[in-house]
Amino acid sequence: MKDWNTFYRNVVLLVFLALASNLFGQTEKAGKKIIVIDPGHGGIDSGAVGINGIKEKDVVLNIALEIIRLNELKPYNNLDIYLTRYKDTLISLSDRTKLSKALHTDIFFSLHCNHSDNPKARGIEVFVSNSIGKYFKHSILMGHEIEKALVHNIGLESRGVKFANFQVLRETVDYFPSVLLEFGFLSNMDEASYFSVDKNLKGFALLLLNELYKIKSYE
Ligand SMILES: [Zn+2]
Repeated sequence: MKDWNTFYRNVVLLVFLALASNLFGQTEKAGKKIIVIDPGHGGIDSGAVGINGIKEKDVVLNIALEIIRLNELKPYNNLDIYLTRYKDTLISLSDRTKLSKALHTDIFFSLHCNHSDNPKARGIEVFVSNSIGKYFKHSILMGHEIEKALVHNIGLESRGVKFANFQVLRETVDYFPSVLLEFGFLSNMDEASYFSVDKNLKGFALLLLNELYKIKSYE
């Protein structure tokens, strides 16, 4: 009899949880923010190739896919996250920005890894468009927030938030806050080794996802 009671209680609990998650899901959905994450390069364009052979296109895609996976596990997630590519394919830069505009995204993140002829160069660099679009200030603010979080939590060296005339930034800054993240240098042995470990990429993804939930630049 006791077992039956436990079973009954569990069924009631499960039904309640299912109903609750459905209700919360619907309430949250109305206010969901849309995020576009753009894993740089792809296909024949490997991007930077690491001192240990790893490729930028794979590092950034793995991080982006892990962000999607982790977001689906969040019980009350309020972010709709899309990628500009889900596979090892090359998408043109203008198609990446067109897709983001069509989705009416709230935020655009382009993911990259750096490379330098100087093997000692290291650290994270965040880029914002150098053209003064409608979301220029939002982009700078968001760039600083993300940079600070990565530097604090992962211990990457900070190279600051910089301005550049990158196409994906130039074509988006008038529509939504956009930043391009250069995670670290694949030409640096320490950083290339770091990005070769799957567990580190997962940690990176989790940190970025948590930051996406905290960002104050949505409005
Ligand atoms: Zn790149």
